[in-house]
Amino acid sequence: MREFELNLTEKELEKRTSKDYLVTKKFLTPDAPEYLALDEGDKKALIHLVKAANIIGRVNLQLDCHDNLDFEAYLKREIKNGNKRAKLTKILFDAQKGMNAVDTMSNKINLAKGIKELPGKGVYPKDLSVKEFHKILTEMINANKIDEVKKVLNQRSVVERSGKHLVGIDYVDKFREEFQKAADELEKAAETSTNEDFNEYLILQSKALRTADPTFDAFADKKWATLQDTPLEFTITRENYEDEMTGTIMENSELVNLLSKHGITPTPKDFLGGRVGIVNKKGTEALTAIKKYLPELAKNMPYADEYEQNISPDKDTKQTMVDVDMVQAAGDVGAYRGGITLAENLPNDDKPSLQIGGGRRNVYHRQIRFISDKKKLQERLDAVLDKDQHKYYLDEADHWFTIGHENAHSLGPKKACEKLGKYRNIIEENKADMASLASVDLLTELGMYTEEQRKQILVTVVADNFLKSKPNLSQAHRVRTVMQNKYMAERGAYELVDGKIHVNIDKVVPAAQEMLKEIIRLQIDEDFERADKYVKENFVWTDNMEIIAKALQKVSKTLNGKLETKLADMLNKILSY
Ligand SMILES: [Zn+2]
Repeated sequence: MREFELNLTEKELEKRTSKDYLVTKKFLTPDAPEYLALDEGDKKALIHLVKAANIIGRVNLQLDCHDNLDFEAYLKREIKNGNKRAKLTKILFDAQKGMNAVDTMSNKINLAKGIKELPGKGVYPKDLSVKEFHKILTEMINANKIDEVKKVLNQRSVVERSGKHLVGIDYVDKFREEFQKAADELEKAAETSTNEDFNEYLILQSKALRTADPTFDAFADKKWATLQDTPLEFTITRENYEDEMTGTIMENSELVNLLSKHGITPTPKDFLGGRVGIVNKKGTEALTAIKKYLPELAKNMPYADEYEQNISPDKDTKQTMVDVDMVQAAGDVGAYRGGITLAENLPNDDKPSLQIGGGRRNVYHRQIRFISDKKKLQERLDAVLDKDQHKYYLDEADHWFTIGHENAHSLGPKKACEKLGKYRNIIEENKADMASLASVDLLTELGMYTEEQRKQILVTVVADNFLKSKPNLSQAHRVRTVMQNKYMAERGAYELVDGKIHVNIDKVVPAAQEMLKEIIRLQIDEDFERADKYVKENFVWTDNMEIIAKALQKVSKTLNGKLETKLADMLNKILSY
């Protein structure tokens, strides 16, 4: 058993795990009507889906940090020995889904002394520096090890040392035992689940878990993206925000040239999550309202004639969307690190299913977006928003904005933009936000929103676009918030009056359209230097942001959050047959 030294003091741990500092998102419970209403076959299937998701979560612990599993074992032993600090540390470990995270104040939280987050997380060797990484790749190409380099630089391999060089081991080979077990569970779920399309997907997904061949993933993803009317939801989520190693190649123009000569595009590594839920019919109906407007939105994207889009103005829209009552979010998708995922639009543009005619699917996480404490919300509004505009603030409007955001990931240039390196995700998320805002007037004209709803969205989004503290550059989701905020301020979309935000409603959409145009240009041209300049120009923490941040800190103590998954925990305990 490896020994560790706990990093946080008992006092700090008590604070960080107490109710006001660690919010709880409550997933479905065993007595939830949504669960009780399921057919018996679907109830049985749910047991296996939860088990499969939990296995994927274990795999992701290993992708996330080399030391996660050892540390977890250490914590369990210490808890048995009555170590109180270990018990409290485990609460944070489970909430963060790993030993390293950031909190809402952008503080780095490391649960063990001496173990810090690495740019290559758990997917690159611990002792590999960026410089050595580039050097070895150059040597490997010069030694004509082209196929080997391709394996190192794809999205689904763990990279290890092999003599003086590196090898990329496909996730399916690296985690063979876990993936086989997850595949077994999916096959068992398919035996009893009542929906044939869903079962077909589960079988395709289990094949993809058994064989190290991206084609199988493509088939599974393609089927998954068509699922619209199924009682259950299951996804192996793959996102690549965590990998800060692969993208560094784009800052080394010699290496970029060398790689492109051999047709190699470095793709950041996938981090895996397991999501299980029950599709909510009413919520889903509300979501699909946007579907008929998507072709029109695609037509209105800036420079639309210069690129192909996932949503084409004249073909069938290959975009499904479901609102899901959450049972389990394991691994990457359930990690609380200052924030947590509200919704996802998958598969991402680097995935092969999009090349074989596959579409995309949005999944919205109901229990994560629910606001439990209306009193707290009012306190926040009193502290930061002009009183005359409180009437326009509506938390539901934030959901409408999210719907626009997720769908906007399917709009704009259909390419993964790897050349933008570490700015790729910042730019893509910025695009999704700005496209969502930029389309509000058009969607009002087309009849999707009323004039009142238009105002609610614009005020709510601008008011919510303030952070509690300045983020660091590796937090894609928060960096773009600062960029937009500065951009909006310069164009008069809001101002501070007596220290409170006043939104100039009619200036929001034009400012968003202007920013969207610049962002799309960056994606079309894929010029790293210009992206670098653009992000740095706009990522400026202004005095006004600091004023609001201070006010937010006063009303909200929250530093992080955790999930409470009572139904999933109960199902996971049931023995498999
Ligand atoms: Zn997004």
